[in-house]
Amino acid sequence: MATQRILDFLSTRRPSGPCLVVDLDVVRDNFVAFEKALPDSKIYYAVKANPAPEILRLLAAMGSSFDTASVAEAEMAMDAGAPASRISFGNTIKKERDIARAYELGIRLFAVDCVEEVEKVARAAPGSQVFCRVLTDGEGAEWPLSRKFGCVPAMAVDVLRHARKLGLDAHGVSFHVGSQQCDLSAWDRALGDAKQVFATLAEEGIVLKMVNMGGGFPTRYLRDVPAAQAYGQAIFSALRKHFGNRIPETIIEPGRGMVGNAGVIKSEVVLISKKADNDNVRWVYLDIGKFGGLAETMDEAIRYPIVTARDADEKTPCVLAGPTCDSADVMYEKTPYPLPLSLTIGDEVLIEGTGAYTTTYSAVAFNGFEPLRSYVI
Ligand SMILES: *Cc1c(COP(=O)(O)O)cnc(C)c1O
Repeated sequence: MATQRILDFLSTRRPSGPCLVVDLDVVRDNFVAFEKALPDSKIYYAVKANPAPEILRLLAAMGSSFDTASVAEAEMAMDAGAPASRISFGNTIKKERDIARAYELGIRLFAVDCVEEVEKVARAAPGSQVFCRVLTDGEGAEWPLSRKFGCVPAMAVDVLRHARKLGLDAHGVSFHVGSQQCDLSAWDRALGDAKQVFATLAEEGIVLKMVNMGGGFPTRYLRDVPAAQAYGQAIFSALRKHFGNRIPETIIEPGRGMVGNAGVIKSEVVLISKKADNDNVRWVYLDIGKFGGLAETMDEAIRYPIVTARDADEKTPCVLAGPTCDSADVMYEKTPYPLPLSLTIGDEVLIEGTGAYTTTYSAVAFNGFEPLRSYVI
């Protein structure tokens, strides 16, 4: 939501052009809420959600660890003050020379989901800890992560066994229940799978120590979402149910849930028009669209709250589109967005809940539009 600090910043600085403003106080509160909700889990902030140096510095100072997907992200986390011991290379798809570079930087924790990747890690980062990602069905998530990452639990057993054989530390199992996951029972299903891998390997004398429970913690967009506390309780009961008194070390990797609600995008209405005189749906074109940072509106998956100064007026359905000359640059059309009838060209609109997955998704210069500017206050 637009905090008073964000509103004050926008009214005094009056930045021209679309921009994201992130309130660090909200990030701080989110970090504390995760710590309280899951006091026994280590927090690895998923850097890709928003790698602004101010955010990384704040979280590093608060003791956060970092889930990184590339050498560049790992270096950003280190520049922000995180030691290599608090960084995981969580991408299951890595070039061998990047693994070697991460190893040189001191990183010793790597994600894998197949024996081919284990071979690379064993060569380029000998003796490191690896965790194997298992597939989840992504059921209940508004931004599911598909079958791209992870393997079935039975294969995870082979992968970790192979890791041990090659001298790596078979450390644990990871999963991601899908981003913007509002179904509290999603972690229960995934933890059941993780336990299966633990149990099978234990029979062979390979004792896993860690479960990486990934991200998925939601941000409030138009609908209410359960609080961090509710997630904490559901996850803790699932851990108890599957692991009894031998709960392993756990990690969570919140991205969206850490920064989503801390940011607001200020945008401007460039054009309002119709396709025919008798159309009752207006087309509203903003100065930001799918290529300016709102990529998660793809398939209308994420529906952001949009605030205008005229929200007390009568609203009618609008198609909402971006400013580029690409026909895919339409945010909401299948389900039109209600906007005030009095909305006028030149009006400012605030797009809330945009602290995560916006600057990182913004194109460099599509049609000459500059990448999404960001202010972290
Ligand atoms: C993107 C990602 C996350 C963060 O997911 P959110 O749903 O934004 O919390 C966590 N872990 C991994 C491995 C990821 O790729």
